[in-house]
Amino acid sequence: MKLASVILDIPTQALDTPYTYLVSDDPTALGGYDIVVGCAALVPFGPRQAIGFVVALEEHAADDLPAGLNLSKLKAIVRAVSPAYFDEEGAACAQWLSERYLAPLSSCVRLFTPPGGVPRMVRSREGYWRLEEPTVGEVDDRWVVPGPSFADFEPRKNAVKQGAIVEALRAGELRVAELAAELGAVSGALKTLEGKGAVRIERRRRMRGMPSGVSGGVGSREESGSSFVPSRKPLLTSGQASALGAVESACASGNGEVVLLDGVTGSGKTEVYLQAIEATLAAGRTACVLVPEISLTPQTVGRFRGRFGDTVAVMHSRMGAGERYDQWDFIRSGAARVVVGARSALFTPMRNLGLIVIDEEHEGSYKQDSAPRYHARDVAVWMARRSGAAVVLGSATPSIESLHACAKDERWHQVELPERANGKPMPQVQVVDMAHEFGSGSRSMFSRPLSSALAEELAVGHKAVLLLNQRGFAKFLLCRECGFVPECPSCSTSLTFHERGNFLICHHCGYRIAAPATCPECGSPYLKKFGAGTQRVEADLRVLLDEAPGVGPDVPIVRMDADTTGGKGSHQRLLEEFAAADAAVLLGTQMIAKGLDFEDVTLVGVINADTMLKLPDYRASERTFALVEQVAGRAGRAELPGRVLVQTYEADAAPIQAAATYDRALFLRDELPKRRLLKYPPYVRMANILVWGKDEGAVRSLAAALHADLGRHVRNYVGNSWDVLAATPCVLAKLRGTYRWHIVVKCPLESDLSAVLLPFFRARKPDRDVNVAVDVDPDDLL
Ligand code: ADP
Ligand code: ZN
Ligand code: ZN
Repeated sequence: MKLASVILDIPTQALDTPYTYLVSDDPTALGGYDIVVGCAALVPFGPRQAIGFVVALEEHAADDLPAGLNLSKLKAIVRAVSPAYFDEEGAACAQWLSERYLAPLSSCVRLFTPPGGVPRMVRSREGYWRLEEPTVGEVDDRWVVPGPSFADFEPRKNAVKQGAIVEALRAGELRVAELAAELGAVSGALKTLEGKGAVRIERRRRMRGMPSGVSGGVGSREESGSSFVPSRKPLLTSGQASALGAVESACASGNGEVVLLDGVTGSGKTEVYLQAIEATLAAGRTACVLVPEISLTPQTVGRFRGRFGDTVAVMHSRMGAGERYDQWDFIRSGAARVVVGARSALFTPMRNLGLIVIDEEHEGSYKQDSAPRYHARDVAVWMARRSGAAVVLGSATPSIESLHACAKDERWHQVELPERANGKPMPQVQVVDMAHEFGSGSRSMFSRPLSSALAEELAVGHKAVLLLNQRGFAKFLLCRECGFVPECPSCSTSLTFHERGNFLICHHCGYRIAAPATCPECGSPYLKKFGAGTQRVEADLRVLLDEAPGVGPDVPIVRMDADTTGGKGSHQRLLEEFAAADAAVLLGTQMIAKGLDFEDVTLVGVINADTMLKLPDYRASERTFALVEQVAGRAGRAELPGRVLVQTYEADAAPIQAAATYDRALFLRDELPKRRLLKYPPYVRMANILVWGKDEGAVRSLAAALHADLGRHVRNYVGNSWDVLAATPCVLAKLRGTYRWHIVVKCPLESDLSAVLLPFFRARKPDRDVNVAVDVDPDDLL
């Protein structure tokens, strides 16, 4: 008999092991779909029915059932309610994810299901359960095509609409919707024509978000048009050629090797990816390219479509659910050979994957911040080992973890591209000491060197990019008499002041009040605005430019931040605006540090390089170094030489000095001993156990109890070789009205962190009022 392991689509730890069901031999009972690994199935569950996913199928003789199974109690699957969403490899990956990241198995299986949802059981008001299909699915267009008697057909003179339809159809097939847009109501005329055999109406699948010409669909998105220009393949530089060689031998080895492509900005890493993908496709395999969400612009997608045409599928969260569904289905059909997407693209139904590329591998966004809290880099490496694929990690500022792996693990290879592909030098970086500026009387947020550099470059028609580092930095009110800072009542963060509208807002939860005129604490009228948001910088910059000789009010300032990029396509529109201008300034937050490639940018300014340095987190220095290095790389990418000015109050800090001299070794010499001494990655592995809830006392006492229990558990397993640090409030101690505590666990690199923690957390009964989440290999400890 055939037995199925089914994981119920109910995300609780309690239901985390698969249930066994019988698979009936009676094919008529099964309905439309086969019961296969990866399908959603309707199963009996207590007094009702539930949806689950089949994760394994096994044949067993009736007298040889797995231990603990009682044949008389086994129930049969009612029927499959979907085709397979994943295969045995996907099921194995979900299992691995749930164990490694201590996440409910159903949440891991869910990663593999199509965008727009899966069938589910819903309860009616009368208490009945019924099956509800997802609302997102295929859409068809109705097309008008010539019928058998089209050639001979002559509409009667007074049948004007019929005549117009026939006329239109002579120029080619078209959609009913197009006809209706042109001619008004056409259904009557079409019916008549269809009855006479002059036309036929056909339903055809529409692929949302695809370039025109694919599957009969018409592209609806801006990325369709311009991106389809085929690109020519340049001759590789010798550095690129040897990088490509390293990738090809990693592919050939077939045991999941990793190549870290450590190349400065503009060194032509993307060209190496493209040619490695080409070789992968030629070998009959497929490729997946992960890009940080924010750099997944039509420009980026265009580089891949330019080379691989309509075999490229795209997946990211800014696409509509319908588009994502179609792309997912396009991948499942096997027609897509290259998938370009954000981290979740790893879980799309690609077959025969030969290469996984992760661009900007140091980016924090590769770590998911809700369960399962996976890191895409680690998942990719696991997948590649299983399937014999190769992984390419690209970055100008590789993560310390990846650099360490290259030094320690023989399956990791580091390849350097120290020069730009066009042979141009890296731009000169000048560090401006703002403390010194302030001391000598300058009160502006633009130092004198930055002001004059802006004036010089803009006056001759060049462009500038200005970065306002906003992490840990926003405008707030401070009472000069008593030191009071208005804070969000629900989150332990100061409220951000907005000039336009004169209000205070919490950027975590949206709480908003009018800005007080006097201090709510002591009544003093001396409430000073501290810090600067992009709006304020923009206003000051406007004044600066208007007064600069040869610049003036005609030079546009394009501001890019969370406020201006909210709408769909706005990010791209702003970049196009900047590209189209002559002299112009692009002013923005972190989102401008990546992927911009404009030829005429000759000046990059970092307004405040050190705000992130002050964040109380072990990765603060690494992030600062990477950010300054990345943004510096936006200057002087083509013919014109570039220069970079970095304003900071900590001019001597190692990450700043190192970034300014492109000296990673200097940064690592400063950083690594600290990491080793304080026991942080890459010298240990960590888990961050978050405890949060509305009741501060309950959170604190649960955290303390958890610490005691977990400490005991860990000592039982591994003695005293691990650290289970005492429970403390998080840096962000209060967020959206919840109190947050955490417990940090550190273990030696060679220990199996998850395997030790897993039994503890699986056995733990969830608490009703206090939440607990385990973050394995956390990206930060905030
Ligand atoms: P990276 O991804 O390392 O920042 P890109 O791949 O964007 O670098 O390349 C930078 C620029 O150099 C691009 O304009 C690209 O077209 C160009 N380029 C890359 N490789 C070559 C090459 N071998 N010959 C000429 N130009 C190249
Ligand atoms: Zn006060
Ligand atoms: Zn808040």
